[in-house]
Amino acid sequence: MNTQAVAKALVLQRPRNLVLEEFSLPEITDDDALIEVEACGLCGTDHEQFSGILPTSGPVIPGHETVGRIVRIGQNAKLRFKVDIGDLVAVEVFQSCRNCQYCLNGDYRHCNHHGLFDMYGFIPTSKPPSLWGGYASHLYLSKDAMVIKLPERLDPQLATLFNPLGAGLRWAAEIPQTQEGDVVAILGPGIRGIAGIVAAKLAGAKFVMITGYGPRDKKRLEVAKTFGADLVVDIEHQDPIRELKSAVGSLANVVVDVTAKSTTALGQAINLCCEGGTVVVAGTKGTVGADNLSIDSIIYKELRILGALGVDIHSYSRAVEILNSSEFPFESLSRLEIGFSGAQNLLVELSEGSQDALHCLINPHK
Ligand SMILES: [Zn+2]
Ligand SMILES: [Zn+2]
Repeated sequence: MNTQAVAKALVLQRPRNLVLEEFSLPEITDDDALIEVEACGLCGTDHEQFSGILPTSGPVIPGHETVGRIVRIGQNAKLRFKVDIGDLVAVEVFQSCRNCQYCLNGDYRHCNHHGLFDMYGFIPTSKPPSLWGGYASHLYLSKDAMVIKLPERLDPQLATLFNPLGAGLRWAAEIPQTQEGDVVAILGPGIRGIAGIVAAKLAGAKFVMITGYGPRDKKRLEVAKTFGADLVVDIEHQDPIRELKSAVGSLANVVVDVTAKSTTALGQAINLCCEGGTVVVAGTKGTVGADNLSIDSIIYKELRILGALGVDIHSYSRAVEILNSSEFPFESLSRLEIGFSGAQNLLVELSEGSQDALHCLINPHK
């Protein structure tokens, strides 16, 4: 394996300012490892971090949807991570000490030693050995990192979908406990919404509706049909409640809101949900307040409203199996793959909502 003497990485020096820098490669001990990055996927979190909506404590190498190959690894780390030199892996965003009460209960995202403030893509470069993000040629795997070993035949670029697909599985199936025969409504036809269709269908949902808004979402709603959506609704022109009722005769048992920056989605989700149903509010919204929210509807219908933050290793592993099975047309998603030099522009476009591609990624080899 050809390992460069230095790592190159894009550093977010301050909001809206990415700078290419070099770092020396870290010494690897018995407990840690180094990967060469093959690709890093981008999501809404990336552009919120880029524009400063999600603050970071000092300069960071962003990127939390990383796929790469192990190029250096210590003896203990091989056992701990269950991987070896040359293996293709996806990197979990969170770290886990594997020892505190949270980690032992499987809730490692709240680990006493790491938690929400010590995630890959958010750790300042001032913390050695600096290589904590996926917009880089190399990424450091600490003792407490977690990886998912990927099948060798899985395309590394496609594999970056482990993150949004994992999100769909957790948010549209696992958290709401979607059952055989359920009617599921998904608000927001981005990649996580489309992944939610896959999740709902695999959980046995009998009917899945997905909504979008306006011309940009029009194409995405067409894509949603190829992933099994039974009904697509453009809420600019159609009333989703009327459409759902006339198609299936009832409201939804499960409603998943994966919209961003919408102040009307939560109210709509509650209106779309049937008595005793479940509403999942997922992904960060970047908004405060909710328009047209009927609090009494929550009470009368006795709804369960559940928040969903991030993904977990179980959902990532399942996502990898699904990607590897080629059962759903993930290869056909509009994909934009750029090198380091295009990243700044792409993040500006993503923050303005002017980029149409459903799957954007940075390839450090490009
Ligand atoms: Zn992400
Ligand atoms: Zn822990």
